[in-house]
Amino acid sequence: MRHSAFAAPGRFWRGNLHTHSTRSDGVLAPEEVCRRYRAEGYDFMALTDHFVGVYGYPIVDTLPFRAEGFTTILGAELHSGAMANGELWHILAVGLPADFAASDSPDFRPKPGQESGAEIAARAVAAGAFVAVAHPQWSGLTLADARSIEAAHAVEIYNHGCAMGCDRPDGAAIADLLLTEGRRLTLIATDDAHFSEPDHFGGWVMVKSTENSPEALLEALKRGDFYSSQGPELRDVRIEGDKVVVECSAAVSVVALGHGTAAKGVHGHSMTRAEVPLARLNNSPWVRVAVIDAAGRRAWSNPIWL
Ligand SMILES: [Zn+2]
Ligand SMILES: [Zn+2]
Repeated sequence: MRHSAFAAPGRFWRGNLHTHSTRSDGVLAPEEVCRRYRAEGYDFMALTDHFVGVYGYPIVDTLPFRAEGFTTILGAELHSGAMANGELWHILAVGLPADFAASDSPDFRPKPGQESGAEIAARAVAAGAFVAVAHPQWSGLTLADARSIEAAHAVEIYNHGCAMGCDRPDGAAIADLLLTEGRRLTLIATDDAHFSEPDHFGGWVMVKSTENSPEALLEALKRGDFYSSQGPELRDVRIEGDKVVVECSAAVSVVALGHGTAAKGVHGHSMTRAEVPLARLNNSPWVRVAVIDAAGRRAWSNPIWL
């Protein structure tokens, strides 16, 4: 059994799904943000400015910045409703229509009577978006918070801006708990770049699709035909009998993870293939893989459901 990202036709396209510009609190104009991602070898990006009233509820038109070999997907970071800690929700929505209706979110403080996080996430999904719970660790999400966003396709397993800016990059802990509850979530790494800090070009998705078009990329994202990375390449992740077989760029550790404490690592030098026995995964119904290179950079597969 092979993860669908490695069985699907097409090739991998590299993209950043979470980015800000001067249309909200980012430092660079949309055109320059797109130019930089293209110059760095990205195949696509989504500009996802903060969808709040003080910024005019931006869904920035990035169509003029598409170019040969580089596309953009419209999107926004949505904000409405309070989390358990009383702060405002941050929900990433990639693939929004340009006329997505404004929420009643004047600024970064929750407002009584506005849509809940769950409601605005569901509205974004209904409008065609790929939706992710943003930066769980930085937000201080509880498990109940995360569980409430029933429409979400994904969780940010890694947010580079939150890593560099405040040492709170993680989404794996809460994602694993949700997977263990049976939620079929996928895992995205993003930059959340504002270009105000070294918060860019550090976490991305590799999406498998026959073409680099917004429509095809969105469908592939929703199907889970992608993996996430800070550097390492994943070439195959498959279950063969009682082991997970991983083919990848040179790695020092290949780890298979499942529910509860289930995990098993295989370590070596410049490994491009590893076989991880499943015996230590305690019959977990799902298995995901993390690959770590000699520089400590990681790549993460989406879960395989057994
Ligand atoms: Zn955010
Ligand atoms: Zn953001």
